[in-house]
Amino acid sequence: MFRKILIANRGEIACRVIRSAKKLGIATVAVYSAVDRGALHVEMADEAQLIGMAPARESYLKSEAILAAARRAGADAIHPGYGFLSENAAFAEDCAALGIRFIGPPPNAIRAMGGKSAAKAMMERAGVPVVPGYHGDAQDLATLTAAAERVGYPVLIKASAGGGGKGMRVVETAPALEEAIASAKRESKSAFGDDRVLIEKYLTRPRHIEVQIFADRYGNVVHLFERDCSMQRRHQKVIEEAPAPGMTKTLRFAMGDAAIAAARAVGYEGAGTVEFIVENDVFYFMEMNTRLQVEHPVTEMITGLDLVEWQIRVASGESLPQAQKNINVEGHAIEARLYAEDPARDFLPQTGRLVHLRLPEESGNVRVDTGVRQGDTVSIHYDPMIAKLIVWDTDRAAALRRMQGALAQTEIAGVVTNVGFLAKLVGHWAFAGGDVDTGFIARYRHDLVAARTRPDDRVLACATMALLLDLETERAALAEQSGDRWSPWSRLTGWRLNDDAFHMLRWRDPGDSHGDATDVTVHFTRDGVVLDLPGGAMAARASRIDGDRIAIDLAGARAEAVVVRRGGEFTILEQGRAHVLVLVDPLADAAQAEAGGGHLRAPMPGKIVALRVKAGDAVTRGQPLVILEAMKMEHTIVAPADGIVAELRYAAGDQVDEGAELVVLEERKG
Ligand code: ADP
Ligand code: ADP
Ligand code: MG
Repeated sequence: MFRKILIANRGEIACRVIRSAKKLGIATVAVYSAVDRGALHVEMADEAQLIGMAPARESYLKSEAILAAARRAGADAIHPGYGFLSENAAFAEDCAALGIRFIGPPPNAIRAMGGKSAAKAMMERAGVPVVPGYHGDAQDLATLTAAAERVGYPVLIKASAGGGGKGMRVVETAPALEEAIASAKRESKSAFGDDRVLIEKYLTRPRHIEVQIFADRYGNVVHLFERDCSMQRRHQKVIEEAPAPGMTKTLRFAMGDAAIAAARAVGYEGAGTVEFIVENDVFYFMEMNTRLQVEHPVTEMITGLDLVEWQIRVASGESLPQAQKNINVEGHAIEARLYAEDPARDFLPQTGRLVHLRLPEESGNVRVDTGVRQGDTVSIHYDPMIAKLIVWDTDRAAALRRMQGALAQTEIAGVVTNVGFLAKLVGHWAFAGGDVDTGFIARYRHDLVAARTRPDDRVLACATMALLLDLETERAALAEQSGDRWSPWSRLTGWRLNDDAFHMLRWRDPGDSHGDATDVTVHFTRDGVVLDLPGGAMAARASRIDGDRIAIDLAGARAEAVVVRRGGEFTILEQGRAHVLVLVDPLADAAQAEAGGGHLRAPMPGKIVALRVKAGDAVTRGQPLVILEAMKMEHTIVAPADGIVAELRYAAGDQVDEGAELVVLEERKG
């Protein structure tokens, strides 16, 4: 067994691996980039080594720096986690050359499965069914166009070297093919340094079902059943479950056997996942991920096994801890991925500081895998996942209820998340029915992604009362000093002394594009306040429970809420919902309106990939203007209205900050 393992990763997966290593009595070494100095994985490990700057290329992807750290620390094995170097065959070889064990499959198996095209060709030879399509070497437009015609539209373009949905484009009709290939190749080149693509028949109502396999160096291969990962947005998983709903015995055994055949075909060792796409009980091989997967916990929950422990044991030369006949499924497990992303803006990744973070309490039924704490930052450099909530219960319906409970306990402020979206998803009748396929989220998006609603009375009352509690505290503090009566605080806290004893507050919902504000009038009475809310007047009382948590009594109805304040911006978490309200300062407001109106700004920091228009061009609403690459994805900035391009502020290749004005559009007159 190993004495010391270096974890070449960060975030929740690094923390996850450290936990199993500790259980086995193995010392752990974390690596970290300059911005991760205070990260949870660094705190959890026995030792830690700085490996470089924030961008992954300069740290977590820099194999020399990681290997040097492993040598300095005297680690005898490296666990790569997922992502980063986990599927990098050269890295696995470099480890071996230094006498350090790579906890993963042999380099040749990684290489064989590394390219989707070559893997599909090999699987065809091994008798594993693959999705109809083209996965040849020739990459010229004529060949690819002919292939798409042969396969029949709609087709799916995939980056051969791909992963994480990057370089993937659905093409509905022939005229859209050329641009889609160009864009897929660009994205693939920048993400993987390889622009080869393949073309597949795009199945319209498939399920994503994958099989977890495990192999040792003595020729034993087992499968640990399947996971259904059909709940996807942008072709990326958000909810996974095991077992797959409605799975028949026949299909399970057939898929298990195919997965084992795939693993044997490449001389596999360690943990791996064979991904299939399934339509009408017919399954096709999509790809094999030669590493631990994000959703491995659902398999752990239904089998009672620790897959990281298995990885470590197998890598150290032990044989598989269990034979196939001893591996059983019990109950049902579901995982939900909590992301900093905005469902209302096509799940655009978000960044920011986790000003307030409460995750559900762990129990025998609820597991929380996370790599962040309150106060940490979700940065542009890495994956925007905040945590994974994993629940287990005796059957699917009970597990769904557990997940609803876990999501209801989750509170996050400071960054927009998918928590509300997930709650709607697991509460959806069609999901409860188990009728899942990869088009589910798009099909039900109107149920799942609520149109922005105006803040209701409860939310307005929570924000208002939290503000009054703050003012009261400040006034008490002020009373101790000799107050400067011209300071803004004495102006505000003077309210109560007004003869008329009322004050009007104006709240704006920053997500409301019309910028409409809502007024709340506060009347100070002998025993509290009465709020004039859009729905009518209500007596209100509030007190602080602790920190940002307040108790509020609104016309006799009592509730708790968390109100997190940053200057004039208030995030209100109540009844499983999150709302942001901004206290309008009439002076600052005029300036804001000026700055916000109709300009085309970068939604996040990134790099300009291409300009689709030039100054003087007439454009129509919805026309692509600029392509921005950020968080390893391409984002297309489109014209919000018909107009003339007055100015392009940047050129292709330029780095831009969030909010940078990219294009100036002039409205077309007449
Ligand atoms: P990645 O490397 O990003 O994981 P995959 O090849 O595994 O790429 O595909 C990701 C997802 O895209 C799948 O889970 C599935 O939902 C969807 N997908 C892949 N291939 C097809 C296809 N031929 N037809 C329809 N959907 C597909
Ligand atoms: P509504 O029910 O008012 O339409 P949503 O469910 O759409 O609200 O959620 C609005 C926003 O708040 C979304 O960005 C969602 O991700 C986020 N959200 C919802 N519940 C929580 C929560 N408990 N903690 C943090 N963010 C949440
Ligand atoms: Mg995949």
